[in-house]
Amino acid sequence: MAINEIYQYSLVNALMSGVSDSGITVTQLIEKGNQGLGTFVRMDGELLLLDGTVYQLQAEGKIRVAEPDDQIPYAAATHFRSQQTLTVKLESKDSIEAVLKKFDDHANNLFMSYRIEGVFSRLKCRTVKGQEYDGQPLSELGKNQFVAEYEDVEGTIVGFRSPSTWQGFFVAGEHMHFIDKERKIGGHVLELEADEVTIGIATVNNVHIELPTSDKFNAAKMSTDDVGLKSVEG
Ligand SMILES: [Zn+2]
Repeated sequence: MAINEIYQYSLVNALMSGVSDSGITVTQLIEKGNQGLGTFVRMDGELLLLDGTVYQLQAEGKIRVAEPDDQIPYAAATHFRSQQTLTVKLESKDSIEAVLKKFDDHANNLFMSYRIEGVFSRLKCRTVKGQEYDGQPLSELGKNQFVAEYEDVEGTIVGFRSPSTWQGFFVAGEHMHFIDKERKIGGHVLELEADEVTIGIATVNNVHIELPTSDKFNAAKMSTDDVGLKSVEG
């Protein structure tokens, strides 16, 4: 059955409330897993952790390898051990749900961790451009993001599937970040299509959430905004 674990720092609801001015370091995150996703201080771009390297996927499609001391206000990571690999066609982001159901160990109310590799015939990614003022909520940053579409691009998607009941703690449903093979482009995946890619999948039944101890986290008013979350993270 489930063998993988997820470590998460902070809550998506904290980002929705604009809490993003400090967090754990890149060095600390890498101890928690070899693949994952998140964001950086002041929500300056998307974070992707792949095989132990943390990348900052910046607006305008630029990528840099993060410094060990860079701070991370939100991230989820796992020591990924695939239980099964499938070769699949993906007609859309929504089709991933059906693909995951083919997985022998599929369980609706467990988390799933996966990695998709291959050539994507179409990919639409976004990167947040960062807060314009201290405490600006993520829900507002949806208007201030860089969106790019790519065709026939080879690379890797790191993804998590969270049960709907966890909305606001995690992103319910699929949460995926992409990086291309040359490590030149990437972002939070909004849409995708692929004729033939491989997907390695694992179920997750252990979830460890570390909460920030900062005054800002403790003072934040947090509630789950399902509609807002779907519009900014969907
Ligand atoms: Zn994301």
